[in-house]
Amino acid sequence: MYCPRCQTTLLRATRLEDGLVGESCQSCQGALVGLAHYRDWAERAPLPQDAEAGAPAADVQPVPDGQRALRCPKCSRLMSRYRIGHGVSNALDLCPACDEAWLDGGEWRLLRALQLSRHVPRIFTQVWQHRIRAEQQAQTARERLRQQLGEEDAAKTQALREWLQGHPKRNLILQWLNRP
Ligand SMILES: [Zn+2]
Ligand SMILES: [Zn+2]
Repeated sequence: MYCPRCQTTLLRATRLEDGLVGESCQSCQGALVGLAHYRDWAERAPLPQDAEAGAPAADVQPVPDGQRALRCPKCSRLMSRYRIGHGVSNALDLCPACDEAWLDGGEWRLLRALQLSRHVPRIFTQVWQHRIRAEQQAQTARERLRQQLGEEDAAKTQALREWLQGHPKRNLILQWLNRP
């Protein structure tokens, strides 16, 4: 099997963690991981010391993302890309036919730093992907507001919006604000 990214380098068996093997590329450090095997490992492996609970580690180093769509090294089908989220632009590639995931070089380390290394299959769900899109849209909207109003007024508007959300007299306040 050749590396789906480099295409000329043969993949070799590698160990991502104790008890978790995959096949990796010596040249780009990417790795192919079978999800059946992964689930088995994730269920059995003891939790790491740095704990999975709580906020992601603060020292998340950016990892370059491959961008280009890949073909599965096993069956040559186009792999689907799934955004990781959590503020990084990286995406994992998945072949739904083979149930194999491709991680670009450094992305396993990234998943660990984001406390997601034990929850990889979650990334491949619609719920996860929808949430990332919604977060992104909200981010874009806030950015646009900042450009239109300036930093200070945009912050005030955002605070007002948050205060109004869930306020029992929300409509009354809105009517009052719109009063001529
Ligand atoms: Zn490679
Ligand atoms: Zn495949």
